[in-house]
Amino acid sequence: MHVAECERCQAECEQIRVGIAALENLPLVEAPEGVWAAIERALPARPERAPFRIGGWRFAMAALLLAGIGMAYWSVVQRSGVRWEVVRLAGAPLVASKPIEQTGRIGAGEWIETDAGSRATVRVGEIGSVDVEPNTRLRVVVTRPAEHRLALARGEIRAKISAPPRLFFVDTPSGTAVDLGCEYALAIDPDGFGRLQVTKGWVLFQWKNLESLVPAGASCRTRPQAGPGIPYFDDAPESIKQALERLAFEKGGSEDLSIILADARVRDTLTLWHLLSRVPMDDRERVYDRMAALTPVPAGVSREQALKLDAETLKRWREELAWTW
Ligand SMILES: [Zn+2]
Repeated sequence: MHVAECERCQAECEQIRVGIAALENLPLVEAPEGVWAAIERALPARPERAPFRIGGWRFAMAALLLAGIGMAYWSVVQRSGVRWEVVRLAGAPLVASKPIEQTGRIGAGEWIETDAGSRATVRVGEIGSVDVEPNTRLRVVVTRPAEHRLALARGEIRAKISAPPRLFFVDTPSGTAVDLGCEYALAIDPDGFGRLQVTKGWVLFQWKNLESLVPAGASCRTRPQAGPGIPYFDDAPESIKQALERLAFEKGGSEDLSIILADARVRDTLTLWHLLSRVPMDDRERVYDRMAALTPVPAGVSREQALKLDAETLKRWREELAWTW
């Protein structure tokens, strides 16, 4: 009951749960064989174990009591849900349809709305912040430590997140932006057309079975019913950007692909790698050959497997190419 009322303890609790969620997201890595031998050598000769004095049952009771307190603490916070802080930056932003003072709180299911003259910042639990630009409608969907989720209906947000991957999500009318540790801007116009621009780290943009992986310095456009387009670097030639727009959203064809292939720089293998799995077979061969001409194909990637869109092969290639992105 105390935690439900006390913001300081809520914050502390939230921090612990973010820690747990972060640990759960870490990949399991096998330690090399030699590690154990080294540890055993480094240990001093094993000392006699000190006898354990407290009676066994007392210890068990204490442990049980602690576990009980922990569970109660957990369930209270889980039920009440965490409310995030909203700080007014300009004008009169609305939270749950009411103007806020200098700061306010927002919980799951509530909207934050800004007009032409107002801006605000939402503190996303313990993992970062989101600036809400003018003329924006943003809803808080989930405020759990393992899932911080917002929904952007229209307008623009700027997210700064420092957390392990896949703890922060923004739903849009044309897909979901999944944070992979990063800073980015996401804008959605009234028709639901969107643009994601990443300034740090990586963002994965997902819609149905389409995925666009967007690194720092790159952008990706999205449309309702079409999902994320092909990512491109902001400094890519204009000709590539325009051809991509036609190819992804306006029934563009082989001529557009020719432009992209002709003008691609090494760095634009970001765009080509995404095109591989989104063009028909004939075009896929052309994309593969251009990629192979731009930068050596790494060991473990064969033309045959790449053209079959073998997942492991594409991943292996992407990881190698990412050094140039
Ligand atoms: Zn307290």
